[in-house]
Amino acid sequence: MAPLDKKDLAKYPFLRESQAYIGTVISSLEEFLKSPKGRIAVHEAMQTLENALSFNEKNPPSLPEIPADAYEIPYFIAVYPVSRILVSCAQDRALIDRLVRYQSWLFYSYLQKEDPGVEIIIRREIGLPEGGNSIPVIDYVPIASRLGEDHWRLINRVVVRGQVQVNPLEYDRVIRERLRYVMAQQLPLKVPSRICDLVKPAVERIQAAWQKRILEEFGSVEESAFPPCIQAILQAIAGNGHLTHMARFAVTAFLHNIGMDTTHIVELYGNTPHFDLRKTMYQVEHISGRGGTGNDYTSPLCATMKTHGICVHPDSTCGRINHPLSYYKIKKKEKKQNGKDTKTGRDTSADLRQDDPGPSQSGGHSPDSVAPGADDRNKDEKRSKISGMARQEFRKDENKSE
Ligand code: SF4
Repeated sequence: MAPLDKKDLAKYPFLRESQAYIGTVISSLEEFLKSPKGRIAVHEAMQTLENALSFNEKNPPSLPEIPADAYEIPYFIAVYPVSRILVSCAQDRALIDRLVRYQSWLFYSYLQKEDPGVEIIIRREIGLPEGGNSIPVIDYVPIASRLGEDHWRLINRVVVRGQVQVNPLEYDRVIRERLRYVMAQQLPLKVPSRICDLVKPAVERIQAAWQKRILEEFGSVEESAFPPCIQAILQAIAGNGHLTHMARFAVTAFLHNIGMDTTHIVELYGNTPHFDLRKTMYQVEHISGRGGTGNDYTSPLCATMKTHGICVHPDSTCGRINHPLSYYKIKKKEKKQNGKDTKTGRDTSADLRQDDPGPSQSGGHSPDSVAPGADDRNKDEKRSKISGMARQEFRKDENKSE
């Protein structure tokens, strides 16, 4: 099997070989982050996170250019761990999901044009069999739980001697989801507070960008755009109805995901029997990641809602989505478009399907198609300028130390 060259290490920075390689160049993380090169790596990691926040698979950015100069490669690789440090210090599960969703798309896109020898190494590294189109049940289950469509459910698969059979066309999706699973599993990292302090300004900027993104995606809370399941749970709350733990979790995570603040969510529970403010506050803060756990949850997939008996009164829009957040986004866009299109009479439903980027990873909504290299010129130009500047800075810094 051909060994990996430095460009391969740059393309797949999550590999053990890649991390070992930068370890030969960067001996102390703290010293690195304080150095000019480290500051550039933080800057580039923020760029990665901005790409992750705006990532839309149906209109993807072009793939970052792998440096031609071997000198730059360790610093290019360093952007990967630094981006993971930033989201870990931010302690926001949804931000982590965005990063992992973007990076798994990125690495998978490289992999599609890859030499078979390298693909085998990647498969092995992420715990998949080197060849063939089957996968052990134990590894299949966490992947399938993120894939909303019924045909991925274990009950609908052929299993032979503990191996789930997956056809060759589906296997690409398995590789990608596995990449996502493996990368997400290790996050958040346990980052020492002195390291988080060093990158605090960058973390704060990315948190602000994320907050802005949530507001842009979901806008003001519009109850009439809530999916039927969420409306039914809210009615049950208002009517003092008994709620299961899952129903409470689903509605709380949903309201948090669309940007409702903790106090408003807690107020909604004020009418429920045996309302306990302190306990409710604790639970809501826990789900929204403000309770110091660093876990902020995404509301469950429709498939999970069905399993728990809280998918009620599904309507025609439900047939087009696999996540309540997607329903909400579609409905909000429709309402906006209806306002505009009463003038033109144009049917916008196809546009809405195209535009919907789906919720973040925990929601498990992940469109199949991968089309790297689509046109997104302004963003690409900006990125190549930043990368070019970064390279010049690396060079300057190197010349100084020579
Ligand atoms: S299909 Fe999804 S969005 Fe629609 S009611 Fe069921 S769980 Fe809610």
